[in-house]
Amino acid sequence: MGSRASALALLLGALLFAVPASGLPAQSAVLKRNRAKRKRAGEQRLLNETQRPGGNHVAAALQRYLSNSELAAALKDLEKRCKGMARLVQFGSSAKGSPLWALEISDHPGVAEAEPAVKYVGGVHGDEPTGRVLTLALGEWLCANFKTDARAKRIVTSMHLWLVPAMNPDGFEAHTRGNAEGKDLNRDFPDRLASKEMEPSGGEQPETAAMMEWTLGSGPFVASASMHEGALVANYPWDGTNDESTRYEACPDDAAFKHLASVYASNHQTMALANNTEFPNGGTTNGAAWYPIYGSMQDWNYVKARCMELTLELSPSKWPAEKGLVQLWENNRDALLAFPLAAAFGGVWGSVQEHSSKGQELRPIAGANVTVVGIEDMPVFSQDAFGDYYRPLAPGRYTVVVSKEGYQTLAANLTVPADGSGAQRHFLLAAEGAEGGGEITHSLRSLGKTAEGVAPDGAAAAALPWHGGRKGEPGGGAEDGGGEGGTRSRDRWLMLATGGVCVYGLWSTHLRLQRRSHTRRL
Ligand SMILES: [Zn+2]
Repeated sequence: MGSRASALALLLGALLFAVPASGLPAQSAVLKRNRAKRKRAGEQRLLNETQRPGGNHVAAALQRYLSNSELAAALKDLEKRCKGMARLVQFGSSAKGSPLWALEISDHPGVAEAEPAVKYVGGVHGDEPTGRVLTLALGEWLCANFKTDARAKRIVTSMHLWLVPAMNPDGFEAHTRGNAEGKDLNRDFPDRLASKEMEPSGGEQPETAAMMEWTLGSGPFVASASMHEGALVANYPWDGTNDESTRYEACPDDAAFKHLASVYASNHQTMALANNTEFPNGGTTNGAAWYPIYGSMQDWNYVKARCMELTLELSPSKWPAEKGLVQLWENNRDALLAFPLAAAFGGVWGSVQEHSSKGQELRPIAGANVTVVGIEDMPVFSQDAFGDYYRPLAPGRYTVVVSKEGYQTLAANLTVPADGSGAQRHFLLAAEGAEGGGEITHSLRSLGKTAEGVAPDGAAAAALPWHGGRKGEPGGGAEDGGGEGGTRSRDRWLMLATGGVCVYGLWSTHLRLQRRSHTRRL
């Protein structure tokens, strides 16, 4: 017994001694093996990618940073190869005369459709080059995968996605943040705190002026994201505070922006992870809570173009090494696909229409005001050709008011589901004094174009009696009914509008502040 006990003690002692002695090298060997495994998995994924049709073009886009002329050639080549789903336009020129390119991805590029437009803008800062790579890779990937990947298919067939690889080509060439005039383009837009009209001064840089003109003249854009480096975060408005202090400055669409930023961050492979300790809110931040800036493209888009723009910081390194570009793409790909779909179809969207003067035929109403109660300052408008509208919203319950001068106002309670599937609602407005307004279920096919996920029953669409919500929805149609609903909701709308004007007056009086220069990190 004694010898067995001492033998056991010896064995235990040897084990205790052996574990710490060999623990560290063993651990580092495991880490090394895991790293190698991850690297092999990444290489395998890229190999799989390149073996798909068109995949070699995705891989080529991820090899290195292309010069401005190489990038232009790559975009033209993509347009030629992906004929019928890509169209390259020059929307302006830089200070030194370099073309500013935008690539439209759609199954009907250049054709007005009952579809939303979304854009990605890279290279606002010349010394932050990943947007050039990611936009080109995204264009190639969509071209290669739109027949086989459901997300790619929906983007190509249900929206017009615009890719601007380089807003500041001169800065890229010179490796500088600003453009050829040394101006930071993300401080060059009219600022909401300097003047509430936010009209251009005329002194904007050519890149800024071209971006504003193109943004307002195309689309209309529902959402947008610009691509930067220097951190890993999805940043949303407001960017500035009226006293230059660093604090959370919520815009009217704070909930929707938080939601969209978190769609990007949570679909990114690492942005929302706990080890991104600088941004513990799931890899998202309010712009002014991080550091206030003035004249940003993001705030301008939101106010002037009703385009909900995020500012994406995609790498802690300002100029990531070229060997990391494949991983950068891997990290961002799902997020780049998820964001446009969530913005365009994850809130409330549909159309506004009326009966033609001849009878039952439906025709679109352009410029109808679609307002969410509680966010009255930021209505969206039904679009020109087909009367379609898109209002990004966070999941939740809302009351939407649809109005246009000369028509009876409609209101509807609705739920934007948490699963991202959105609330699709079509409104039939009746002229003042006429009957028959209400919500309808019909396909936009009846307007000559198709929309994803709509049953092809447009021709037989029947107007439903007006109701305040969908059948079975709590609160739907309970308090108002019949033809009076429109009048009652118009009264409610008038009250809300009057209240809104008062609040706005107080707010703008409060904000008599000068636009000031500011130092900042990014
Ligand atoms: Zn930047």
